[in-house]
Amino acid sequence: MAPGEKAKTSKGFSTSPHVLFAELMDFFLGRPLAGRLAGAEAPVCSCAACEGLWALDAFAGNEGERQARAAAHNVAVLMEWLRTLAAVACSGSALSPRRMPIGTVPGAVQASSSVVPPLGD
Ligand SMILES: [Zn+2]
Repeated sequence: MAPGEKAKTSKGFSTSPHVLFAELMDFFLGRPLAGRLAGAEAPVCSCAACEGLWALDAFAGNEGERQARAAAHNVAVLMEWLRTLAAVACSGSALSPRRMPIGTVPGAVQASSSVVPPLGD
């Protein structure tokens, strides 16, 4: 860069943080997302990080704490999904039918044991 020349801005960094839009299960840059939500009532996020105080159009720039807030939002949503999937996985195994040997009739176990002749005869 020559002396007096204006510094070129990097095109490699976005001007807004990535925000996880839970309903669409995808990441969006905050600025285009805010543009899409413009004119409509932006959904207020109820994740553990946003606590219903931040709407999804609040991440339109990198100023202030927006990047940290967006990262906290993303992690909170991902952790909610993880807890939900873990709960589904656990309850799914509890709901599966109990394994039972083929041909076994419930309640027939005691009846068949009385048919067995005593040992020693
Ligand atoms: Zn959130």
